[in-house]
Amino acid sequence: MRIIVSVTLYVIFAFIQINMSLGNMVIDGGLDDATIKGIITQLQMLIAIYLVLKENKPGFIAAVLLNIASIFSSMSFVIRQGSSEPLPATISYLGVLLIIMLIASYKKKMNANIEKIDSQRKSLEKSENKLFQMVYYDSLTGLHNKEWFIDNLNRSIHVAKRNASMIGVLFIDLDSFKSINDTMGHSTGDEVLRIIASRLSSGLRKEDVIARFSGDEFLIMVPGINNMEELHKITDRIMDIFKTSISLQVIEYFITASVGVAVYPEDGVDSENLIKNADIAMYIAKSKGKNQFIYCTSDIKNDTIKKMELTNKLYRALENKELLLHYQPQVQADTQEIIGFEALLRWNNKEYGAVSPNMFIPMAEQTGMIRPIGLWVFKTACEQLTVFQNIFCKNLSMSINLSLEQLKDIDIVNKISNILNDTGTNADNIQVEITESIAFNEDSFILQQLEDVKNLGISISIDDFGTGYSSFARLKSFPIDLLKIDIDFVRGISSGSQKDMAIIKSIINIANNLGIEVLAEGVETREQFMYLREKGCKFIQGYYFYKPMKSNEVESLLGNKPKTGLITVNM
Ligand code: C2E
Ligand code: MG
Ligand code: MG
Repeated sequence: MRIIVSVTLYVIFAFIQINMSLGNMVIDGGLDDATIKGIITQLQMLIAIYLVLKENKPGFIAAVLLNIASIFSSMSFVIRQGSSEPLPATISYLGVLLIIMLIASYKKKMNANIEKIDSQRKSLEKSENKLFQMVYYDSLTGLHNKEWFIDNLNRSIHVAKRNASMIGVLFIDLDSFKSINDTMGHSTGDEVLRIIASRLSSGLRKEDVIARFSGDEFLIMVPGINNMEELHKITDRIMDIFKTSISLQVIEYFITASVGVAVYPEDGVDSENLIKNADIAMYIAKSKGKNQFIYCTSDIKNDTIKKMELTNKLYRALENKELLLHYQPQVQADTQEIIGFEALLRWNNKEYGAVSPNMFIPMAEQTGMIRPIGLWVFKTACEQLTVFQNIFCKNLSMSINLSLEQLKDIDIVNKISNILNDTGTNADNIQVEITESIAFNEDSFILQQLEDVKNLGISISIDDFGTGYSSFARLKSFPIDLLKIDIDFVRGISSGSQKDMAIIKSIINIANNLGIEVLAEGVETREQFMYLREKGCKFIQGYYFYKPMKSNEVESLLGNKPKTGLITVNM
């Protein structure tokens, strides 16, 4: 439309100009002809420039054609009439032609640049989207990821603050998922994760948010709840999801989950604390037997704070001289003579008093503190053994507990060897106690470390035997010297458990046949002792004979006993 109007106007102006030049038309406006013609030429120039600027190719073509036509018409007028009057206009038309050419080429370049910028913008948008996917989505399950969840939770906390509503945060961890990966391969594991992710998503309300936290862990946020009942319903629904099996390649998988629940504002007023407390509650659910959900409580939170404080204090326990060893005598069943001791670590903290080894040893293992502490135990026990041997005037053994974490230390064998040398201890008198999980470990490095410890001349005993996973093949191939029957089986003797007694008899038989010694731990009654002795258990450790004692208490045992070192108990 613009082109048609502009071209028409241009043609009208040209027509007027031609007719004025031919003398067919007179415009009486108080201006002379030359001025009017000049104005008309200027207006034509403006129209031509307007066309090039406003319209793209068609505008440019129209402007060029109009100008060429004008030049031709002026030139033919000059030739035909022999008048030089149209020459200034002709030069103007030529000038305009040049200007519109320049404008067109400038526009062309500009358009090319705009196109380039546009394509760059598009590819930038694309990579931005990709980046967004990578930053906020989990590529395996298609769920949002942790970062996105935290952003969302923070926003929901803002809203909940205003509305005085509650938010539930569920920390879900699949039970024994590792075994699926290990036995069926990672692609099956991935498929299971995808199916669970989609089942969990479909069990939620539209305002709830789900994310994959990491590995086999998922997070769910349940915002806008007004009472705990609402949250209970949702947690029930989520637990129900795990009641249905997953079928993959004709195999049916039953996968359960442990769920920890934290609630805003009781269990935290920011995303970090809410997720942390839900995680802690999930761990409690796991430790209580898995396949259940646990709500975070003030007890759980206090316990965690206490553990954190204790962990911090444990770092200073060695230098503050808060650690000490107790020694529990081990006796020979037939003579009831003390043949050695087990060194048991004790921690007397200034603030918390005596902390149970069952509490602080796992902490020491998790933090790596068990390495320096373990070496201190080794050295102290060796030194004490020399003292005991001198007092008892006989060869005694010292059993020292060793954690897996200590065996991961590449230099442990050297360190133990140095302690033996420095304290002048005969390796034959030292026994290290390891758990079944270490002895039957598949890690060849750990097994080599154990072999090396054994090569120093130290005996190896398996602590709490029967409570973990044992392998007969390993019992046969690995040079184990002693099995310590766990207290749980020994207790079974008193409660008349036929199964426990059968297990005890089997352990003793297998050990005898393999040339391995047997010690029963946690023997508390005469009945237990008599049974074990009768069944052929050679060594006994337990309160029935001796409780773990301080070193000076062990030394004072001698005061009441004959100096031969033979210490007997009245039966
Ligand atoms: P453990 O090595 O199986 O030690 C035996 C535990 O049973 C000791 O508990 C001992 O006090 C207890 N006990 C002994 N006889 C009886 C009995 O007749 N009845 C009952 N009810 N209990 C009895 P404790 O001293 O609390 O140690 C617990 C665990 O801590 C030990 O179990 C051991 O696994 C670990 N532990 C202790 N000291 C060390 C250490 O120096 N290093 C490492 N890595 N672990 C240690
Ligand atoms: Mg032990
Ligand atoms: Mg034990």
